[in-house]
Amino acid sequence: MHIVVCVKQVPDTKIIKINPKTNTLDRRSAPAILNPYDAHAVQEAVKIKKAIGRGTISVLSMGPPQAVAVIKKSIEIGADRGFLISDRAFAGADTLATSYALSKALERISKDMPVDLIICGKHAIDGDTGQVGPGIARRLDIPPVTNVIEVSELNESEKTILIKRKITDGYELIQAQVPCLLTVEKEINSIEYSPMPNMMKAAKYEPIIWSVNDLEDVDRTQLGLKGSPTIVGKMFTPPKPEGGKRLEGNADKQIEQLMELLNDKKELFVSR
Ligand SMILES: Cc1cc2nc3c(=O)[nH]c(=O)nc-3n(C[C@H](O)[C@H](O)[C@H](O)COP(=O)(O)OP(=O)(O)OC[C@H]3O[C@@H](n4cnc5c(N)ncnc54)[C@H](O)[C@@H]3O)c2cc1C
Repeated sequence: MHIVVCVKQVPDTKIIKINPKTNTLDRRSAPAILNPYDAHAVQEAVKIKKAIGRGTISVLSMGPPQAVAVIKKSIEIGADRGFLISDRAFAGADTLATSYALSKALERISKDMPVDLIICGKHAIDGDTGQVGPGIARRLDIPPVTNVIEVSELNESEKTILIKRKITDGYELIQAQVPCLLTVEKEINSIEYSPMPNMMKAAKYEPIIWSVNDLEDVDRTQLGLKGSPTIVGKMFTPPKPEGGKRLEGNADKQIEQLMELLNDKKELFVSR
């Protein structure tokens, strides 16, 4: 079983600041981390490998040379090896160009070792589109299963896998044929403490770095900014919601205050 997990380096959005003048992310204001959903994707690959008792977990990232850090983090969690595609030709990619570049790298990886399962996060916490996973599946012509919360019954001889996915009012159970691509929710597992040998391996680990010239049959017009039809029309910071009013005193006093507030807003309701 060869599992490839796509991992993205993202700014920690819990900390990042917005430049009030340009309304753009000030990327220097926050540390770069492994996209949290992708950490769960790697952890799930480790769980599947343990359940089967053998296999190889590769991780793949597209980004600048600093993205090596998220590959090392994935090795800490339990991945066996990592690939980084890094080249100026990939810069400025939207989701269409990102999924194209990643699918070309996946084709190259599967030439040496056929890929059975690709796992992505549900979304990246910066771009937040959730389009890259399904985009890769479409390009590789394999089924995508999104919002996965449980993987079980992986039958290697039948090449099937049982997947539980979250839907608005419950969940669905799907039996899919491998190879397929999953995008995972955080509740699929909890991240375990990394064992010391993994941490030591990660510290020394050097991933395989490919430039665009290392990929085969690449249409360069589909890469980077040139291959990105998305146009960002406007960026703005949404206004902060106004704080509500705190009701004070005992229950009777609070009811009085609430009635006053509702009376003040009466016209709002009547006019509708
Ligand atoms: C015009 C334009 C220009 C842009 N220029 C840049 C730029 O110069 N630099 C920049 O960083 N971003 C740029 N972006 C943002 C870029 O589109 C997204 O970062 C990228 O396409 C991934 O989309 P997403 O973040 O919505 O991922 P999602 O679709 O939400 O991610 C889902 C999953 O896909 C996988 N994944 C996503 N991206 C990667 C990756 N790079 N490597 C490995 N796995 C991945 C992960 O498993 C992730 O959990 C640009 C966007 C636009 C519209």
